[in-house]
This record gives sequence, C-alpha cells and structure tokens, in this order.
Amino acid sequence: MIEPRVLYPGSFDPLTLGHLDLIQRAVALFGSVEVAVAENSSKLALFSVEERLEFLRAETGAMPVKVEHFRGLVVEHARARGIAILLRGIRTVTDFEYEYQMAMTNRQLAPDVDTAFIMPSEDYAYLSSRLIKEVYAAGGELRRFLPERVHAALTARLRRTN
Ligand code: ADP
Repeated sequence: MIEPRVLYPGSFDPLTLGHLDLIQRAVALFGSVEVAVAENSSKLALFSVEERLEFLRAETGAMPVKVEHFRGLVVEHARARGIAILLRGIRTVTDFEYEYQMAMTNRQLAPDVDTAFIMPSEDYAYLSSRLIKEVYAAGGELRRFLPERVHAALTARLRRTN
C-alpha cells in the first residue's frame, strides 16, 4: 500500500457505520487513509484502545487503510508521518462549530497541516458514538448503527454485566 497522505483521527469508541462510511469516502478520494485512534484516559470508554484498533483493522482489512494509535497532539502525529491533511466528518451545524475551532487551533499549532471535511451518507448523518453510548446504557437496540462484530461485542458485554 502507498503511504497514506491523509490522517483520520478520532476516538472511535465505538466504531460505527458512520465512521466506516467516511473511511470509504476518504479512500475513494485520496486512494488510501491512515485511521488514528486517540488514546484518551476517559473512564467512560466502552472499549479499550486495543479493542478499537482490532475492530478498525478487521473492518478495513480489505481496504488501503492503515490503522494506528496516538497520544498527544494529532498534528504532531501527522507531521511524524509526513502527512499534511487531517480528515474529519461533519454531520451537523454543531459539528461544524466545534470542528472549525479545532481546525483553526491545529492550524495555529501546525500551519503546514490542513483539515479537510467530508459529509457522510444521509443514512448516518445523525449517528454519533456519544449517542450510541447513551442508547447502550439505556439498553436500546444498536444493530442498525454498528458493524456486526462491534454489535456482537457489545451484546456479549451486556450479557456479562447483567
Ligand atoms: P463521535 O463519533 O462521537 O463524533 P469520534 O471522535 O470517534 O467521535 O469521531 C471522529 C470523527 O469522525 C469526527 O470528525 C466526527 O465528526 C466523525 N464522525 C463520527 N461519526 C460520524 C458520522 N456518522 N458521519 C460523519 N462523520 C462522523
């Protein structure tokens, strides 16, 4: 695989069909993409970083996608990889405000790194990992939002905790 020129960072906790939609669009546009899982110490995480990497690798195995993790500043991780484009998804106007601030902050930190935005299919335009966590906590059905193996892992976990 050629070295990706684009970095798609996020927490991917959990990986959703919205994330995968974005990854497919990024591959179509840029030829390949590196997906980078942010290591954050949130106690509210559903899956460990290792589990998230496993899901991403399993779901993107057949595509020109590299899956890594990083700690600290995303722009530093991009620079270390020789990547000058960050990719983010925009779903709503609220996303835009947050993403705009983040892109501008990253530009201050690293003027040589730009952020590109992609809109998902309208099927996933409302889908967020945060809402998935809330629906999961309330015992709701998540099958239609998640890759099958992520859904199966969540179901197994629910069984263990009940
Ligand atoms: P969350 O999914 O809760 O927004 P992430 O940090 O995993 O959290 O998101 C990583 C990136 O993927 C962000 O740019 C986010 O806007 C984008 N993204 C997440 N879900 C979708 C979706 N359904 N459609 C488009 N972009 C998305």
